[in-house]
Amino acid sequence: MRKWIILFMLVCVIGCTTRSLDAGDKPVRFYNLSGQDQELIDQAAKFLMRHTQMQVENTEIDVKQEASNKAQAAALKGKITKPAIAHIVFINAGPNEREHLHLAAQQHVAVVNLAGIRTKDAKTYGRRIDRQVTRGIFFLMGRSPCPNPYCALFDYKDNATLDQIGRNTCPPCLLGGLDSAKKKGAIIVKTPLQLKLDETRKNSPMPATSRASKEAEGKLQILRFGVDDDSPSAPKAPEKKKAE
Ligand SMILES: [Zn+2]
Repeated sequence: MRKWIILFMLVCVIGCTTRSLDAGDKPVRFYNLSGQDQELIDQAAKFLMRHTQMQVENTEIDVKQEASNKAQAAALKGKITKPAIAHIVFINAGPNEREHLHLAAQQHVAVVNLAGIRTKDAKTYGRRIDRQVTRGIFFLMGRSPCPNPYCALFDYKDNATLDQIGRNTCPPCLLGGLDSAKKKGAIIVKTPLQLKLDETRKNSPMPATSRASKEAEGKLQILRFGVDDDSPSAPKAPEKKKAE
């Protein structure tokens, strides 16, 4: 009998690792109106989920692509029907559009102008999309531009600086942004490591002191604070040299 109970518990634990809801039921929604770059947009979704653990879903919508970010936001009014904490819309705006990212906060919409950040190098381009997605969501969550050049919310002026800033947010921006995302009802997906840690804590009422727990704790910190060891070095930080 005990064997079956253990087996049942194991199935529960494994079953829960794919998606564990933390109260909320609203994803971040991506809408690709550009008809291009879907692979890179999917990569950005994965990046965002890894960094913030917010659930991202690609969503279809019957809206034409506009030539400017503002016109796009206006065209979306009343057309978005599915609930989300943030709607991220990808377009190729016309050559007169100078903005990379446009926020329509009341609509919970961020328009990313792919034409403004596109470059031949797919890796660089993909990372620019990652940064715009992070910026769009965190600004919609009420965060302001951040003075930390390692933070994706750093106020950059051109694509060269955009390539230098972090793809992730710094810890205060991450925690503040996640806090409001949760309050707005975001779906937070727990990582297998966090679930394992929850399980460890549940099974040991004493403070975790074993080496294994400390290791898991350390990894959790890295996940929660989103240290981006993949990022190029940020401006004014000679100690963090990474070959690109
Ligand atoms: Zn920051």
